[in-house]
Amino acid sequence: MKLIPDPEKISVVIEKIRQLKKRIGFVPTMGALHSGHFSLINRARKENDIVVVSIFVNPTQFSKGEDFKEYPRRFKKDIGFCRRLGVDFVFLPDRNNMYPEGYSTFINVDNLSDCLCGVSRPGHFRGVATVVAKLLNIVHPDTLYLGQKDAQQAIIISRMVKDLNFPVKVKVLPTVRQGDGLALSSRNAYLNKQERSVALVLSKALRLAETLISNGQRNCGRIISRMKQLIERNKQAKIDYIAIVDPEQLKELKKIAPGCLIALAVKIGKVRLIDNTVIGCA
Ligand code: AMP
Repeated sequence: MKLIPDPEKISVVIEKIRQLKKRIGFVPTMGALHSGHFSLINRARKENDIVVVSIFVNPTQFSKGEDFKEYPRRFKKDIGFCRRLGVDFVFLPDRNNMYPEGYSTFINVDNLSDCLCGVSRPGHFRGVATVVAKLLNIVHPDTLYLGQKDAQQAIIISRMVKDLNFPVKVKVLPTVRQGDGLALSSRNAYLNKQERSVALVLSKALRLAETLISNGQRNCGRIISRMKQLIERNKQAKIDYIAIVDPEQLKELKKIAPGCLIALAVKIGKVRLIDNTVIGCA
């Protein structure tokens, strides 16, 4: 496994590999790797000749007052995980070689970026789309692996790939959870023991919605209000949003439709967590 911090260097190395007609799978991350990331890496390992993982805490996707400085950085440990998972290249750029002095170009995926998480995190998806576009241009993979955990991010990146004709296939893999339902997230590290148990309300609210739907409820407003009631029983949990949307436009729905996305963001103390589920049939 090779560690490469320089974008130009990794581009050159990968271009040589591409010429040998090897399939390249790419998993972009911000590090603090956990089983959610491992599932993406394992899938990339199975489906490609070469696996590239990037580890970069991207400053442009954090707004002022967010946790950019505190975001967990465990690069040594992450590199060990990558080695054990059979990754071929870890791309570890620093801020200056991704955004050198004078950097001025950003990508905005209109409409999809201003709703759901975009409301309380203005500019977040502009930062995400920009860094992923840059990473795709640097790594030039055949397949990009993303997690359903960040559903809006996956939808926005898929849209960008389509709109800007990036020659890459996007695969979105299921959310990996702990045994009790909590979706794995690097931000779970911020939770103390008691907050960790309160954080279960996110997945419980989603399971409640699924149960209501399988019992025949189709009214989105009613489902959301039952989810709210459940979450608001915990004083430490503050709802940012709960939404039921179509999975392409992210427009709010009145009635449950096949494939709709139920997404929520809840603050547990100071920690903002997100989760979602896709409703298969209706
Ligand atoms: P991050 O390091 O948080 O930027 O995440 C890197 C990639 O891992 C993104 O595509 C995420 O959606 C994905 N990911 C994060 N958590 C999970 C999870 N619990 N299950 C599956 N994928 C995940």
